[in-house]
Amino acid sequence: MPTKTLALVTGASSGIGYHLARLCAEDGHDLLVAADDADIHDAAESFRREGQRVDAVEVDLSTTEGVDELLSELEGRPVGLLFANAGRGLGRAFLDQPFREIRHVMDTNMLGTIYLLHRVVGQMREARQGRVLITGSVAGFTPGAYQAVYNASKAFLDNFSFALRHEVKEHDISVTCLMPGATETEFFDTAHLQDTKIGQSKKADPAEVARAGYDAMMRGDGDIVTGWMNKLQSAIANITPAQWLAAGHAKGAAPGSGKA
Ligand code: NAP
Repeated sequence: MPTKTLALVTGASSGIGYHLARLCAEDGHDLLVAADDADIHDAAESFRREGQRVDAVEVDLSTTEGVDELLSELEGRPVGLLFANAGRGLGRAFLDQPFREIRHVMDTNMLGTIYLLHRVVGQMREARQGRVLITGSVAGFTPGAYQAVYNASKAFLDNFSFALRHEVKEHDISVTCLMPGATETEFFDTAHLQDTKIGQSKKADPAEVARAGYDAMMRGDGDIVTGWMNKLQSAIANITPAQWLAAGHAKGAAPGSGKA
């Protein structure tokens, strides 16, 4: 466990990111937290109850300008723990998704995250220390019919995380990929997946998912797939033809596949 340091958590207003930030505050770390709407300030207020310094920024992290704005709040302070967690889902058939929403998912999950990592891990290299948690997903193992862009964006992040881990280990930086399965957060509402089987299924507790990710990061593990069912499904996905995976995913994610 590192001594008191500064933790930067994106997507900390709700769900998994909220609980990651809470764990940091409980462990005595100062926080810089960010999300896209004003709820981030309520979340920050709850983290402050642990007694640490907490700064909050309401910013769209799908743009490099948004990431720059977030990092300007650091005022030169080094980041010891980086949680690149902000992300968006998007259900429905690819051709029925407005391109504006497709672009926002790609820019948030990939462009904004990669730019954040480039800047902060660059600083960690100078300091020769740091821990990074990237929130990928088990979705990255499966071609996601009716969630095609989202799953592809998570395949990108899962893959990228292992490559970055290899490149920076010689600088005493550890990179961990958190790969949750379906988790009870606002994700399914914002992704328009409420009428699907997956949207209506029983899901994991975000506090437990965050705890598993946080502990894996502190151990310096390369990845953590949360939940035994997700571990089993991701192992099976590795030996299943991609077209079967896409067909299986469609059954759970197709609009109207859930109960009316
Ligand atoms: P969530 O409750 O919707 O949280 C998403 C967080 O990301 C919110 O704080 C949201 O802030 C922030 N965010 C999204 N787009 C942003 C943007 N452009 N700029 C700034 N902040 C942005 O959902 P969650 O499930 O905890 O999601 C957290 C991460 O877990 C995501 O990367 C997601 O892909 C991943 N994940 C989720 C599941 C699941 O089943 N829930 C499974 C695997 C992986 P605003 O609300 O202010 O926009």
